[in-house]
Amino acid sequence: MSQAEHLDHSDNCIFCKIVAGKIPSKKVYEDEEIYAFHDINPTAPIHFLIIPKRHFANLMVADSADEALLGRMMTIAPRLALEQGCRPGDTGGFRVMINNGADGGQEVYHLHMHVMGGPRQWNKN
Ligand code: AMP
Ligand code: ZN
Repeated sequence: MSQAEHLDHSDNCIFCKIVAGKIPSKKVYEDEEIYAFHDINPTAPIHFLIIPKRHFANLMVADSADEALLGRMMTIAPRLALEQGCRPGDTGGFRVMINNGADGGQEVYHLHMHVMGGPRQWNKN
């Protein structure tokens, strides 16, 4: 990520405010560089978001310096999904989704990974 993008730590970014504790959230997980919290408008029985604490908009501004962070977000997802009640194994599972840009359906421009699952038939359409 370029310096300019790194500095784009907008005071108006709702997810930066969540990381800073200025807006309340239902925390799922936190470490030095990652925060996870329940989606306020869930579209699945289990629906939470994994975000980097550091602001960047989406994958389109990520670069090789972000590979470790993105990898950690990906590998932490199954652990948190199980903790949140997603069923294990191939008969259970969960969905991971990252929306990027307007054509990708992105509404909040702070990178976030949706993790969605649950034991119900929410995903048939
Ligand atoms: P996207 O369309 O991928 O940008 O999704 C943004 C997601 O953020 C949506 O699923 C929203 O329900 C969720 N969201 C927006 N504001 C909040 C908030 N304050 N706390 C938790 N989730 C939020
Ligand atoms: Zn942000």
